Amino acid sequence: MKIIVAVKRVVDFNVKVRVKSDGTGVETANVKMSMNPFDEIAVEEALRLREAGVATEVIAVSIGPAQAQETIRTAIAMGADRGILVRTDNAVEPLAVAKVLSALVAEEQPGLVILGKQAIDDDAGQVGQMLSALVGWPVATFASKLVVADGRAEVTREVDGGLQTVEVKLPAVVTTDLRLNQPRYATLPNIMKAKSKRLDDRPLADLGVDAASRLTVLKTEEPPRRKGGIKVGSVAELVEKLRDEAGVL
Ligand code: AMP
Repeated sequence: MKIIVAVKRVVDFNVKVRVKSDGTGVETANVKMSMNPFDEIAVEEALRLREAGVATEVIAVSIGPAQAQETIRTAIAMGADRGILVRTDNAVEPLAVAKVLSALVAEEQPGLVILGKQAIDDDAGQVGQMLSALVGWPVATFASKLVVADGRAEVTREVDGGLQTVEVKLPAVVTTDLRLNQPRYATLPNIMKAKSKRLDDRPLADLGVDAASRLTVLKTEEPPRRKGGIKVGSVAELVEKLRDEAGVL
């Protein structure tokens, strides 16, 4: 069984994100970019399934600019067998990503597609669900445990106040939650080896999917700046300030 893993190139989670001066989005020029953290978890889970003999091949797919090659190579350095870059310099919305993945599903016929539950840049949390609708497969979202056997996947999901376990028939789509696993680090020799790996690199236009934009970003704003704190001299002063100035008592 093949597994497709979707890996998105996003602003590194350690970077303090800055809003562009025209408010159309966030600054990505000269900013460290990395694989979306939930997608690292997806790669790790796919590799564990291959190592357990459940899967035979792990294919990392990214949709984005030429630099998204680096993200695919990170997945390969972790252990993925091959990579597909669907190249575009335009911003791709979740529906377009789902359509591209659906076209690749038709080509590759995987038994499982594993995605992150959300990309930390646009926080859409949509692609897995849209992909499942497009290909007509079941989807199990927010997996914190995944067991695959006998053509079925048992997925434990984090829900409000506890855990829920569901079963889906393969082929299926699964999206990862934070506690599914601890992704491995790529070793330096594997990073070097991954650099010379040939990737399947094709323009998005060749896939014949309608990737037109359907959303207009009206504005992007920084969160309000926090005001500096003050030190109070006594509990009485604290109570007075909470009552008279903050109005919370
Ligand atoms: P989203 O619905 O945009 O929050 O993304 C959910 C998941 O879809 C991500 O964690 C990725 O696994 C996948 N995904 C989204 N955008 C891309 C992309 N451009 N390339 C590859 N995978 C993507």
